[in-house]
Amino acid sequence: MAWEFSTEPQFQEQLDWVEEFCRTEVEPLDLVFPGAAYAREPKARALADPLKQQVKDRGLWALFLDRELGGPGFGQLKLALLNEILGRYRSAPVIFGTAAPDTGNMEMLAAYGTEEQKRQWLYPLMNQEIFSAYSMTEPQGGSDPSLFRTHAVRDDDEWVINGEKWFTSAGARADIIFVMCTNGMFVVPRQTPGVQIMDYPALHNHIRYNDVRVPLGHLLGPEDGARVLAQRRLGGGRIHHAMRTVAQVKLAFDMMCERALSRESHGKVIADHQMVQEAIADSYAEITMLRLLVLWTAWTIDNSSTQQARTQIAACKYTCAKVLREVSYRALHIMGSLGTTNLTPLQAMWASAPTMAIADGVDEVHKVTVARNVLKGYEPQAGLWPSEYFPAKREEARKKYASLLAADPDLAAWADRAARAATVRP
Ligand SMILES: Cc1cc2nc3c(=O)[nH]c(=O)nc-3n(C[C@H](O)[C@H](O)[C@H](O)COP(=O)(O)OP(=O)(O)OC[C@H]3O[C@@H](n4cnc5c(N)ncnc54)[C@H](O)[C@@H]3O)c2cc1C
Repeated sequence: MAWEFSTEPQFQEQLDWVEEFCRTEVEPLDLVFPGAAYAREPKARALADPLKQQVKDRGLWALFLDRELGGPGFGQLKLALLNEILGRYRSAPVIFGTAAPDTGNMEMLAAYGTEEQKRQWLYPLMNQEIFSAYSMTEPQGGSDPSLFRTHAVRDDDEWVINGEKWFTSAGARADIIFVMCTNGMFVVPRQTPGVQIMDYPALHNHIRYNDVRVPLGHLLGPEDGARVLAQRRLGGGRIHHAMRTVAQVKLAFDMMCERALSRESHGKVIADHQMVQEAIADSYAEITMLRLLVLWTAWTIDNSSTQQARTQIAACKYTCAKVLREVSYRALHIMGSLGTTNLTPLQAMWASAPTMAIADGVDEVHKVTVARNVLKGYEPQAGLWPSEYFPAKREEARKKYASLLAADPDLAAWADRAARAATVRP
C-alpha cells in the first residue's frame, strides 16, 4: 500500500522551525513594518534581508525550484505543506522566495529559458535582486485568449511590440514584465521606451506597449509558443494560490473556534449553540477536503507534470475560491460586529473571495476545463437506456445463469418474482 498521509520527520522538523520563525519573526515585522519585505527602501530591506538569509541558511529558499536552479528541489508537495504555514503571514512568501507573481514567472523561465536568459533574469529573480510581472489579459477580454491583440513584429535584430494589457499585478514596480503576445512570450524591461503605465488601477496595472523594442533574445520559448508557456506559468501560479488559501481558511477557522469558545449569548457559550456548531463542522469538512485536493494535486505534479495535473489544478482553483468564500464568511459572522471591521484579518479575507474566483482565470472557465477533461473518460450510452437501467442489465445478467434457470423452473419463477418486487421498491 502506497497511500501515506504523514510528513517525513526530517521535513516536519523544518516545518516546526518555519512555524516558530513566522510567529516570532515574520508576524512582528508584518505588524510593525508592513511591506518591508518587498520594499526597495534600504532601511526596510535591512530589516527583512537578515530574515531571508536565515531562510537560505535553513535550505528553504525558493523551495519550488530544482536543485540545479538554486532551490532545494523539494517539489510541490513539500511546498504545499510549507505554504500551509506561509499563507497565514502577509510577507512570508517573499521572505521564503516563493511569492507570486515571481514564482510562476520563474517556473516559466526555468522550463523554457536558454542558459543566457536564465543568467540574465532567473537567477536575479531568485535572489530578489529584481522583481517581475506578468502581462497577459487585455482590456477587451480576459477569459478568452483568442481576443488578445498584443503583437510583436520582427524588425531586423529586434522585436517591436504593440498592444495594451490590463491588470498586470505589480507591473508598475516590476523590473521586467513577461508580455504575452499573440505570436510569442517576451521579456520586456519596464524601463524600455514605449512602456506606458496608466494611472489606474494602482496595484494591477493597465499598461500600453507602444512600439516597444526588445532584442531577439527576449523571446522566451518558441515563436508562437505563448499559449503553451502561459499554461505552464499559470498552472504553477494557481496551485501556489490554492496552497496559500489552505493557510488562510485555516486561520479563519482558528479564529472562528476561538471566538465560539470565548463568547456567551443566551445563557451559554456560543459554541454550544447548534448553528455555530454547524458552521464549525461544515468548515472543518470543507477545509479538509480542500487540503487533501491540494496535496494530492501537488503530489501528482511531482510524480508527472503540471500539464498532466491540469484537471486537478483547475479543480483546486475554483474549490479554493468557494471554500474561502464559505469559511471566511462564517468566521466573520461568528466574530459579530468586530468581524466587519479591518481590525482582524477576516474582513480582508472575505473581500478576497470574489478576487480569488477571478484572478488566474474565472471559475467558470476552470469548471469547463474540468468537465471537458472528465467527460473524455466517458462514452454515450449504447442504445435507448442508460447503462445502469435495471431491466436491461438484469436481462444481460440472466445469461450467466441461463442453464440453471432452464433446469430449475421453481428457481426461475422465484427469480422473476424477486426481480418484479425489486423494481416496485422505491
Ligand atoms: C487580483 C487579480 C490579479 C490579476 N493579475 C493579473 C496579472 O498579473 N496578469 C494578467 O495578465 N492578468 C491578471 N489578472 C486578470 C485575470 O486573469 C482576469 O481578470 C481573468 O482572466 C478574467 O478576465 P476579465 O477580468 O477580463 O473577465 P471577463 O473575461 O470579462 O469575464 C467576466 C465574467 O464573464 C463570465 N465568463 C467569462 N468567460 C466565461 C466562460 N467561458 N463561461 C462562462 N462564463 C464566462 C464570468 O462570469 C466572468 O466572471 C488578475 C486579476 C485579478 C482579479
